[in-house]
Amino acid sequence: MECSVARQCGGCLGPRRSYREHLAQKEKEMTALLGRFCPVEPILGMEDPYHYRNKSIATFAQDRAGKLVSGIYAQGTHRVIPVEDCPLQMELLNRTQAAVLAAARRCRLTPYQEDRGQGLLRHCMVRCDTAQTQALVTLVTPSAYFPGSRNFCKELTRLAPWVVGVVQSINPRATSAVLGKTGKTLWGKDFLLDTLLGQKFALSWASFYQVNPRQTPRLYETALDFAGLDGTQTVLDAYCGIGTIGLCAAVRAGQVIGVELNQAAARDAAANARRNGAENARFFQGDATEWMEEQARRGQSPQVVFLDPPRAGTTPRFIQAVKAMGPEKVVYVSCNPQTLARDLADFAAAGYKAVKCRPVDMFPFTAHTEAVCLLERR
Ligand code: SAH
Repeated sequence: MECSVARQCGGCLGPRRSYREHLAQKEKEMTALLGRFCPVEPILGMEDPYHYRNKSIATFAQDRAGKLVSGIYAQGTHRVIPVEDCPLQMELLNRTQAAVLAAARRCRLTPYQEDRGQGLLRHCMVRCDTAQTQALVTLVTPSAYFPGSRNFCKELTRLAPWVVGVVQSINPRATSAVLGKTGKTLWGKDFLLDTLLGQKFALSWASFYQVNPRQTPRLYETALDFAGLDGTQTVLDAYCGIGTIGLCAAVRAGQVIGVELNQAAARDAAANARRNGAENARFFQGDATEWMEEQARRGQSPQVVFLDPPRAGTTPRFIQAVKAMGPEKVVYVSCNPQTLARDLADFAAAGYKAVKCRPVDMFPFTAHTEAVCLLERR
């Protein structure tokens, strides 16, 4: 992997090892963690593990000469390493980040300085569609104050005419979360459209979306295949994001009901169902655990439950609710093998045995591994 800042940048594990060695390492770790529950199948790696990411986050700072720079934190620090050409990000993201920086410099925008609580720009998140024809730019600022935002948008869209929208996300808090809770559209749209497994999906700036669109179809196909859908089942899609797994399942199921905590994402999911004419799919906003308990109380009896929780995994109460509903199959999509192992033990105690597990490399050259696990009622 060619990268001029690999030594300093903390964004990935860098080129210290070949991709093949990375994959072998991940497979070994997954077997060590999950092998006691079920057979772990070979990891699905990428043929070309570069320029796969569809989302880029850069942080703004000042260099020694006082010039605005943007890049990625050096490993374990808050020192920004300028990154111009990240080999893991899609080319359009690199070009868009460069255009954002050039436009910001031209408009004399200042970086936010954490220590002093002064300045304007904290981070810039850019997302693009799989075809790399459109990009959505989200600028994170500490307050709603953004003097010169019109000029900035004008300059940015002149330099990067593929930008379809510029959003300001307001994050006054000094936490590791990049995005704030509130946002404002500065120019154009506040969402991006993408195509995945033949369906169209709109995603708002604040919604979760899988970051590796070349591997996402393989991840979802694995999950759908594990579920053994036959066109008749009632399927639950918990932690559904913008409804991607549920809507891919809907074409092979009787009905799909999904739940998602993030309001924007839940709204996207409902709109995506309409967009794809999926009359058998419904999506709700709420906490997955509470919603599952509610479904169990109402006597809902799905045949298949998909769950795709964030890194923290799911909850013992969620698992108890699954037990109460008694689906034949549970398909667990996990981005954190540690919490997956913990939850598999709870599922086993609730009568759900892990049958097989398939790791999928969604994040080449990083320490993260995704896995799909099939559980069946004993
Ligand atoms: N299945 C989707 C999203 C997976 S990411 C996809 O493949 O794209 C996990 C999702 O869980 C995120 O959208 C996040 O907003 C949501 N989430 C986090 N905590 C939640 C909770 N307590 N209840 C429901 N959804 C939650």
